[in-house]
Parts: sequence; C-alpha cells; structure tokens
Amino acid sequence: MANPPSDAKARRAVAPVICYPTDTLPQPDMALYRAARDGMVKLEEVIVPPRDAACFRVAAGQFFRIRSIEGPQVGDLNLWNANDLSERFYSGKTRALHGTHLTTGDRMWSGFPQMRPMATITEDTLGWYGIDAFGGSMHDVIGTRCDPYTNALLGGGQYHHCCHSNLTRALAARAGLDLSLAEAHVHDVLNVFMCTGFTRDTGQYFMKASPVRPGDYLEFFAEIDLLGALSACPGGDCSAEHSSDTAACHPLLVEVFAPAKGTLDGWLPPQRNSYDRSHGAGQQ
Ligand SMILES: [Zn+2]
Repeated sequence: MANPPSDAKARRAVAPVICYPTDTLPQPDMALYRAARDGMVKLEEVIVPPRDAACFRVAAGQFFRIRSIEGPQVGDLNLWNANDLSERFYSGKTRALHGTHLTTGDRMWSGFPQMRPMATITEDTLGWYGIDAFGGSMHDVIGTRCDPYTNALLGGGQYHHCCHSNLTRALAARAGLDLSLAEAHVHDVLNVFMCTGFTRDTGQYFMKASPVRPGDYLEFFAEIDLLGALSACPGGDCSAEHSSDTAACHPLLVEVFAPAKGTLDGWLPPQRNSYDRSHGAGQQ
C-alpha cells in the first residue's frame, strides 16, 4: 500500500463536480407525453415466460409498459432501432448522463454515431423507492446482464437460461438470425425492477430483493421505431443468486399502447446526433 502524501486529507476533501451537467441536454416534453398517454389504447401484449425472453415491436410515438404480474421478478431489457439493429441502447452513456438508476423523465440513449433518445420513461410506480440506506435503488444501468461466460468463469458450469442467452435466443428467433449473429447484437441492459447499488466499503456491485409487486410497472415512450427484448432473469427477485434454477421466477408482461388520437400531431422522432464524424482528420 502506498504511503499517503502529507496533503492527503486536503486532496480527498476536494468537492466533486458532475461529469456531464444536463442543463444543456434537450429535455423531453413530458407535458406532451402525458397528454398522449391519457386515453392511450392498448394494442397488444406479450408474456415473457420465467427464465426466458421475448421480443416486441413498438412504433415511434407509441408507449410500452413492463409490468410485474405474478410475483417479484427482475427483467433485463435490450432495445434496438427496429429498422437498423446496429443502433442499440448504450447503457454506459445513459449512466453518464442520468446516473446509475433510471426513473420518470430519464431516457435510454443509443450508441455512437446516432446517440439519440430511443425511449423516455413516462411512469415508474417504484419511483417512491429513491435511494435506500445501503445505497440501493431501482432500474439500474450499471449491471451488464447475467451471462453464461461469467458463470463458467466463476465455476458455475454450463447454464443456458441466463439473460444473455435468453435474449440471444429471442432475437435469433424474431430476426431470423443464426445464434452467433444474434448474440453479437445483445448488449448491456436496463435492469428493470432490479434493486442494486455499490457497497460503500469495497465498491462491489450488489443486489437485494426487489421491492416490485404485481401491478407495478415501468412505462416508456418510444422515440423511434423499436424492437425490444426482455428476459425474465433466472435470479427471480434477485434476493439470492443468478444463473441457477433455484430462485422463484415469475413471468413479466409487456404491453404496447397507441397514443391518444391527435395528441402527437406534428411530433417527430429525434434526429441522429449532429456531430459531423470527421474526427479531425485532415486538419492541422
Ligand atoms: Zn439475469
């Protein structure tokens, strides 16, 4: 362990600054979204079976809800541009902009070069939870997704119904892709209904029993045409462990809604990011 310098105390006492202040970030028009969701009409629903995943389509301007139905259950969400799978959710940048956990008013951003809002959270029935005494909160963008590779590395053997594999199978079936091609499109998730944080003493990622109950939901406005995939995690409520068949698991429900008629007249999906992509090449 390195010896601390004489001014260690002063160096530690420097106040932090926010990396990405969001004062200049274009804000969602929540009043418009609220008007569009009042009187919205349900179009379809998809049940995600326990320890499995399912895909769903949502057109730009529609809403979707992920709902707890039979018991506490965590879901791992992937989003793609339905017309171009190379545009997908970027959890790292979303975390940099909105923090470690998302709630109403936060957005799910796509990666480079498009980097635009894919979806905006319009309702979170667990918004009351806040940040608990352990530093835990809901719907994180810090975890990756449970996967068979980490499980094997940690001595867990071959386990196929982890979220990564569930999402891979679901996307392969929906998009008509080979498993290996589909796997390359699966990405870090939004951990819906998961209660997580970092331990203050060791900085380790922790999870705890989700406070979600049947009837709770997280609702999104689709900013662009979306293909979504949701996995009902084999960890169930994530109170104990991942990647096993021992946790009690429940299905999740995805519901898709059309906005109230006429409320989105004149609304347009967000444009791709305005950076010119020349990267300074050819400049002195
Ligand atoms: Zn999982």
